[in-house]
Amino acid sequence: MRTPIVRAAALGAATLMIAAGCGTDEEVTDDAAAPPAEAALTLVTGVYPLEWLAQEIGGDSVAVVQLTEPGAEPHDLELTGRQIAEVSEADIAFYVEGLQPAVDEAVDQEAAETALNVADIVELRPATGAHGHDEDDDHGHDHDHGHEDEDDEHAEEDGHDHDHGDYDPHFWLDVELMTETAEALAERMGEVNPDGADQYQEGAERVTAELATLGEAYESGLASCEHREVVVGHTAFTYLTEQYGLEQIGVSGVDPDTEPSPAQIAAITDIVNERDITTIFTEPLMPAATADTIAAETGAQVEVLDPLEGVTDQSPGDDYPSIMLGNLDALSTALACE
Ligand SMILES: [Zn+2]
Repeated sequence: MRTPIVRAAALGAATLMIAAGCGTDEEVTDDAAAPPAEAALTLVTGVYPLEWLAQEIGGDSVAVVQLTEPGAEPHDLELTGRQIAEVSEADIAFYVEGLQPAVDEAVDQEAAETALNVADIVELRPATGAHGHDEDDDHGHDHDHGHEDEDDEHAEEDGHDHDHGDYDPHFWLDVELMTETAEALAERMGEVNPDGADQYQEGAERVTAELATLGEAYESGLASCEHREVVVGHTAFTYLTEQYGLEQIGVSGVDPDTEPSPAQIAAITDIVNERDITTIFTEPLMPAATADTIAAETGAQVEVLDPLEGVTDQSPGDDYPSIMLGNLDALSTALACE
């Protein structure tokens, strides 16, 4: 009997977080987890950045069902029968193909008509880009130019369990792709509920302006940095590192459940030492043990870089924009940006 109570509490917390992000804390009530009766449409999604877009654009007129519980790692999501029914019943199934196999499958089987797949809206990067790190040899690979070459260089490097398929789904770390997605979502919401079309359009414009501001902060914040190496656990940051000319170095074990081998840890330790890297990034939803080991051997610090797959206690903010800015702070400190 404990599970439903825990789950209800968790959902309540999620609602509270969203409400806090919108500055409407007063609206939080005990039954906030239930979709508001007056919602004109329901939308189901499985990952936080999509939930944020839906809330920002739809406001009170959309009931957003988040399939991933707060604090849970979204990749390995498994759906209950009730959740599959929620996918089936929602007016819009808003997802990014390749992120969560369980969601892909539920949408295919239950919601083909109502699906809004980000992979159909934006051009996702090839998945090999997500694994474009160098863990075994050739520490000094050319990172000053030719990012485009990385896909070829690492095309055969697919020994990771964290297999998203052909495309890297972590698009939300690119604010321009978020903007394209916001516009497509507003349009779809307007088709489902024409009475709200103007409101959704306004919501999309507000979101777009906010995303543009974030993009400008990143452009100027990362324009002039002493270092370019971003050492992370889960190589979720390709959209960010490629956009701003940084180099993502994954500590392998990109699947949170996979422990990197001693050889992989040693290889990363060498890179950190050779390049005077000051910071090893870890993620809120992943154990920090490997990062701690490397830090202990190199004198580097361990800091959080949030892939925004969920909002947690350790996230450097409580919503998409604040976490993006928190990440920018962490990056500009680690990379010694001006
Ligand atoms: Zn991921």
